[in-house]
Amino acid sequence: MTVRLKLLIAALLAGGVLAAALLAPASSRRYCATRAFMGTEVSITVISSRDPGPAMDAAFKAIEAAEGRLSRFKPDSDVSRINRLGIGRSMDISRETFRIIEKSIATSRISDGAFDVTVLPLIKLYPYGKEGKLALPERGAIDEAKKRIGSDKIVLTALDDKKLEIGFKVDGMEVDLGGIAKGYAVDTAIAALRHGGITSGIVEAGGDLYCMGRRPDGSKWTVAVRNPRGPGGVATLCLANLAVATSGDYERFFVVDGRRYSHIIDPRTGMPVARGVASASVVASDCETADALATAVSVLGAEKGMELIERLPGVECMMLVEDAGGGLTEVRSSSWEGAVGP
Ligand code: AMP
Ligand code: MG
Repeated sequence: MTVRLKLLIAALLAGGVLAAALLAPASSRRYCATRAFMGTEVSITVISSRDPGPAMDAAFKAIEAAEGRLSRFKPDSDVSRINRLGIGRSMDISRETFRIIEKSIATSRISDGAFDVTVLPLIKLYPYGKEGKLALPERGAIDEAKKRIGSDKIVLTALDDKKLEIGFKVDGMEVDLGGIAKGYAVDTAIAALRHGGITSGIVEAGGDLYCMGRRPDGSKWTVAVRNPRGPGGVATLCLANLAVATSGDYERFFVVDGRRYSHIIDPRTGMPVARGVASASVVASDCETADALATAVSVLGAEKGMELIERLPGVECMMLVEDAGGGLTEVRSSSWEGAVGP
């Protein structure tokens, strides 16, 4: 999978970092580390007056554990075990996996099914990662796969506090938590840093990130939303104790007859999202919520997507919407400026 860099973290650019370090109390320093997880790069930056090594290690361990449970590419993950389940059986799952799937189902409900972690049978029909002359699948294959899609066909049962089970109502169903897992992983890493006494820093996984606390000079962290059609950024966000996640059609896509198809599937049509939202950035108080909603609004489009965002307290969104001529229009939710201003 390609390394994805959806946001340029302005605060991490050498100049900005140096300035921050100089303004910090004498003993406060900036520490940064990057490791590969979940098919992307995860970077952790912290400001600390003492060695943050153990806290940063714990944060990376938390991300590794999240990947171990949630990746559909790891044969022993909860998700892979779930995807081998079939109908008429249920299995025990960890509390965390149960909770994320619960949150995914809730996001599916509020987004009228636009966010749906059961789209994997559809994803498998399309030529992601392939080259050469590509084609769309037959309509019959899409219709057949659609019978196995739907978050309402996931059965979650909490028998008691310790015994949590999942099952499917239809044979051949599978889940893919790619639309929410990175945000969740960022949140677990932030929790690990806080547990280790860190109060200021950024955790970023493939462009989805959380800004904890403030910079040493008291200002918010600044991050830039990447231009989905070219180099550089299109907006600068100032964030303190807030997350932002961006979904874009430029990250993983394929082209058939000159038309770009995104890695996000519209569960209602069974087709990849083909034109409309080039990028959607969602700001929320946790990264899991921001991640799931960024994927959801990419499916819903500007109008319905913004309607959803406006209904949700504490959530803001900025979209870059592509018109038929390829031009980009910026659309912002009503309190966007207030949430991301200095
Ligand atoms: P993101 O980059 O967060 O928008 O997530 C995109 C990933 O989520 C895709 O690569 C798929 O793994 C998965 N996905 C695709 N379509 C959907 C959808 N409609 N709802 C939830 N997850 C999806
Ligand atoms: Mg997402």
